[in-house]
Amino acid sequence: MSRFFSQKFASLIPYTPGEQPRDRRYIKLNTNESPFPPSPLAQRLARQEAGDLQLYSDPACAVLVQTAAEYFGVEPEELIFTNGSDDILNFAMMAFCDADHPAAFPDVTYGFYPVLAALNGVPFEEFPLREDFTIRPEDYTGAGATIFLANPNAPTGIALPLSDVERIIASNPDNVVVVDEAYVDFGGESCLGLIKKYDNLLVTRTFSKSRSLAGGRLGFGMGNRNLIRDLNTLRYSANPYCVNRMTMMAGVGAILDEAYFRFCCGGIVKTREETAEKLKTLGFEMTDSAANFLFIRHPRVGGMELYRFLYEKGILIRHFETPRLKDYNRVSVGSEEEMRSLTEALAELLGEKA
Ligand code: PMP
Repeated sequence: MSRFFSQKFASLIPYTPGEQPRDRRYIKLNTNESPFPPSPLAQRLARQEAGDLQLYSDPACAVLVQTAAEYFGVEPEELIFTNGSDDILNFAMMAFCDADHPAAFPDVTYGFYPVLAALNGVPFEEFPLREDFTIRPEDYTGAGATIFLANPNAPTGIALPLSDVERIIASNPDNVVVVDEAYVDFGGESCLGLIKKYDNLLVTRTFSKSRSLAGGRLGFGMGNRNLIRDLNTLRYSANPYCVNRMTMMAGVGAILDEAYFRFCCGGIVKTREETAEKLKTLGFEMTDSAANFLFIRHPRVGGMELYRFLYEKGILIRHFETPRLKDYNRVSVGSEEEMRSLTEALAELLGEKA
């Protein structure tokens, strides 16, 4: 820390992103990226836009907002685009949380929430998941806090039924409920249909997973127009051009290419189910994932040992060194071939240990 660093950030522990090593070619199953490249239409529109990069991007993201509003069946005023969904989660933390409106989320969830709370000086409460990693909805009813719910949750992949999500939203009319639907396209029930009914609901989504644009950085939020206006007040005060021209057009292409989107999501879900079956025959235990990853543990192999073994084999998965998660690893669903390499490597490890 330099002697110039503001004291208010002195104890901030930043989020640790999954590794992006370049020392060799790894099978990357550690950051929930898509195994499929971006849609050909998304690539073509982004390439065309490259010729205009001397010009700033449209801060209103008008073309993208219009395309997305039609696709999702919302008004343009009910939509905001940002630089990945981490960006909108930060704006939501800034906009809707303070000493009188603390944040609340599960003790096991997306690791960015506590970091964003700390960054913004927001007090927060973590509600423990049940032993089986499911959420206890009753913890959140009438919580008197700004709630952040990843649905499906991360890193467990477990989806909360829509009826429970609605109960949480309805019971907190004076607080915003942020439902982070980063993984919803792989099997969760979306609560998007509730944004007209509840003015306290913000739904966030990303193009990083189901639309193969993690490196493009594109996320968005949908909710009551007054919530969106508040978020835009902050976005225009912080970084009005947060979505660059090429990403904006890649986003348009990714939305318009519905057939490709369905093909990718369908393939990932099929591979997830096939991999889960194979892992179960190897003795792995796992949560019931509705996302593009599996959360696994083996009764005979420690989480770190498994991670290290695969690392040596050139396969990267995500290990979390917290007491509750240390026996587990999160494995992104890659291509069929990548998952075959994974299951073969694991069979070898278990064979060695038999
Ligand atoms: N929410 C959840 C639950 C996530 O796992 C992630 C990805 N790490 C994000 C949001 C952020 O994704 P991005 O910023 O790439 O849109």
